[in-house]
Amino acid sequence: MDSNKSSKVCEVEGTVCKKDVQALCYHCSKNLCRIHLIQHAQLMEDMTRGKLNSLADKFNELSLRFDNISISDNILKIPFVQLEKWRAEAHEKIDQIVEQKRQELNDELDKYRKVFLTKNEEQLIKMNNSKRIIAELIQESDASANQITDLQTSIDETENYLNSLMTHEINVIATTPIWRVDIESQLFEPQSILKNELREFKITYLRLNASEITSDSVRHVNDYLVIIIR
Ligand SMILES: [Zn+2]
Ligand SMILES: [Zn+2]
Repeated sequence: MDSNKSSKVCEVEGTVCKKDVQALCYHCSKNLCRIHLIQHAQLMEDMTRGKLNSLADKFNELSLRFDNISISDNILKIPFVQLEKWRAEAHEKIDQIVEQKRQELNDELDKYRKVFLTKNEEQLIKMNNSKRIIAELIQESDASANQITDLQTSIDETENYLNSLMTHEINVIATTPIWRVDIESQLFEPQSILKNELREFKITYLRLNASEITSDSVRHVNDYLVIIIR
């Protein structure tokens, strides 16, 4: 120990004490005389008892909470409600899309129907013209090679036109998924389970005038108040 320390005076709080220092309180790093050391130790003990009592109350309070806990609605109910909500919204969204596409199909059909009728009319006029010509030629029982070729061409064209109608189509291209739903969990974290054992409290009071304690032995003491005796 530092020999200068022995000449220090007591550093007790709240009053002036000129007495020689007897010990150092490691809890608050104050040098104290014998009387004030004892008072100080008593005070610390009272404070500690109060603190322990309030901690014990807190533990009791927490124990009561364990009696009333159950799996919360956040886990038990809300996700199912959310999934149902998603289902309703997805159905609604799908119905909207279907309605919109049905409208597009109808618009497309209207346009097609117009062209369909116009083209049919054109083809029919052409064909009727050919029919008129062939009726005349049959009556005359006479036709040139070119006329025969023209009539054949007219038949081919009409045939091609009618066949082409069968190749027209409108397709609905389905792309999936059109709507997504995911599940995300926030549950126990790996560190959330208490794994550190509580340190056992060990309160050591050293008697005054006991033989000097080495700093090594002090280091092993796991308490809150260590008194070094000189
Ligand atoms: Zn202290
Ligand atoms: Zn004192």
